[in-house]
Amino acid sequence: MTSTPASDPDPSGAHGPEMGPGLAGARARMVERDLAGRGIVHPGVLRAMGTVPRERFIPTDQAEFAYEDHPLPIAQGQTISQPYIVATMAEAAEVGPQDRVLEIGAGSGYGAAVLSRVAAEVWTIERHEALADGAHRALQDLGYGNAHVIWGDGTLGYPEAAPFDAIVVTAGGPRVPEALLEQLADGGRLVIPVGPETRGQELVRVRREGDTFDEEDLGPVRFVPLVGAQGFAGGDTTGAAEPVTIPVSGPAPARIVTTPSARIPHGVSALVAEVAEPFGSITGAEVGPLLDRIGDCPVVLLGEASHGTSEFYRMRAHITRELIRRKGFTVVALEADWPDAARIDAWVRHRSPSPPGFTAFSRFPTWMWRNREVAGFIDWLREHNAGLEGQRQQVSFSGLDLYSMFTSRDAVLAYLDRVDPEAAKVARARYGCLTPWEHDPARYGRAVVTGRFAGCEQGVVETLSDLLRQRLDYATRDGDTLFDATQNALVVANAERYYRVMYYGSVDSWNLRDQHMYETLQTVRAQHGPGTKVVVWEHNSHVGDASATEMGARGEHNVGMLCRREYGSDAFLVGFGTDHGTVAAASEWGGPMEHKSVRPSHARSYERICHDSGVPAFMLHLRDPVREEVRDELTPPRLERAIGVIYRPETELQSHYFEAVLPRQFDEYIWFDETAAVTPLPAHELAEAPDTYPFGL
Ligand code: SAH
Repeated sequence: MTSTPASDPDPSGAHGPEMGPGLAGARARMVERDLAGRGIVHPGVLRAMGTVPRERFIPTDQAEFAYEDHPLPIAQGQTISQPYIVATMAEAAEVGPQDRVLEIGAGSGYGAAVLSRVAAEVWTIERHEALADGAHRALQDLGYGNAHVIWGDGTLGYPEAAPFDAIVVTAGGPRVPEALLEQLADGGRLVIPVGPETRGQELVRVRREGDTFDEEDLGPVRFVPLVGAQGFAGGDTTGAAEPVTIPVSGPAPARIVTTPSARIPHGVSALVAEVAEPFGSITGAEVGPLLDRIGDCPVVLLGEASHGTSEFYRMRAHITRELIRRKGFTVVALEADWPDAARIDAWVRHRSPSPPGFTAFSRFPTWMWRNREVAGFIDWLREHNAGLEGQRQQVSFSGLDLYSMFTSRDAVLAYLDRVDPEAAKVARARYGCLTPWEHDPARYGRAVVTGRFAGCEQGVVETLSDLLRQRLDYATRDGDTLFDATQNALVVANAERYYRVMYYGSVDSWNLRDQHMYETLQTVRAQHGPGTKVVVWEHNSHVGDASATEMGARGEHNVGMLCRREYGSDAFLVGFGTDHGTVAAASEWGGPMEHKSVRPSHARSYERICHDSGVPAFMLHLRDPVREEVRDELTPPRLERAIGVIYRPETELQSHYFEAVLPRQFDEYIWFDETAAVTPLPAHELAEAPDTYPFGL
């Protein structure tokens, strides 16, 4: 890009060919009276305001008002800022002669013209194409070659030219756009009006020092709304299909399309950018609107696109805390083994600890629940429950999965040893036939199916039936733990079947497992009484409605689909997604945890649409979005990525993508463009942890 240094002779000086002497005088008076007279001291700014012909940026019939100190209407219902405000913002941004400056909201181009006379180089972004064109022409006619006009969404900044020493936003947004903070140079200043759309705003200056951002209020102001991905939603769209740079200098064509940037959205991505609710930090994310959408739903399912991504775990915990605090949720149920979760449950509800020697979440994959993110939530839950009287209001923690055949068996036997030693003897004999497969339950199914072994089905089912039959009697003796023992006996029975059908293929065993998780969820809910509100943490593939995916087409169902069938719109299904980053996963079943990098998403995927929105993190409502087109546009089936315990990036298209219809699969989709692996709790740390800590026992 050619650039004209700000110090070049100014072709628009008071004696320029098109400059009437009357207007030059009016301009000088404006600088004196309205700027210097009201406290503007920045010499460069005063000089620039004394040189730039404001009349060239407004409709000709308004020229006589060019140097009145108030805003004037320009095209598209927008305004050219009042000269005093243009000067105030340039001064507040401390623009200097060496600076590279970004302006958001080119409007007429006047502000950019002033900035271009003070700074080394200026980029200005405008969302209305007609205005961008007009600003470009005005700047070009004046020969301001160091000012570049870009047509697009300014809330995403202009990464191509970042970092900027100063950023000036000439429209009022709900908050400071994260993208602009990122594009601010060390030592840089960002000036922006911030406040609710309908009322006035506060002019805010953010100063960056390293990774610290200091914010100052500079007083009340009133600007037109900043509309965009990280501004206000709504309004008409620009229709900008590609980022367009309109160079000011030279005989170049009126516009040049720059290299397509993923950050300036188009098509369905632009729509997503417009309606999505962006958020900055996870703990600071305002989930109020999401909670409003959840309304009175008693069952909320929160997914994850991998079993090893920190952001998914932390965001789920954040939402769950708010569901507990503000909506009366009292059960957290997860894709974890019943006995492990029961151990945590005893801890968070301040009941007696499990027998010593028990280690929660110690089977592969340990990092899935045995990580810092989960530990943080568990600590919070324990603290939350401490303040509550009576077990009713306390929040419980339950495991829905069925992999714990042997731990569950031991738990049932321990229970029976206590309450009914005779029954324990019988159960021990019946369960005995499982013993040879203790270290490799998957081989059990093979032995039964190939007829080399009679199987244990009858025995394990009888044990469960005995327990249920004895329920009343046992309850009087030891009611507290009967429920736990019964659930464990159910796990053994269903796990026995699970391993048996696993041999035949994945559909039946998948369905059995999800059926078990769903039924356990229902049992837990019933156990806690009518109206109990439950939040579920499982992988997207269990949580999203399977009938909207290729799993459904294969005959698979899942927890989300069964909940939808049972609860209809009273079940609220939330999916999560990411484009790239790192993830904790293994290369094969039973293998060690590795940090793997997640490849940028596939071109035909929903993830790519979200990535191209340019919004780094957002919540996207799908059930009843503010703009119905969102559902329509997202309805043609696309690929969706699922990373489980295993991740093989080399073959990810075959092994980690499936076809889905996102708006039918989920009611809400939560996006993190870049994500990082969970932090597992290492064994040596566990050894040193206080022995009251649940993971340490
Ligand atoms: N600096 C301008 C004042 C323009 S008023 C001047 O001196 O003339 C604010 C402008 O911001 C309007 O033109 C509006 O269309 C534009 N705008 C609002 N949201 C925007 C966004 N997200 N990206 C780019 N421009 C935006």
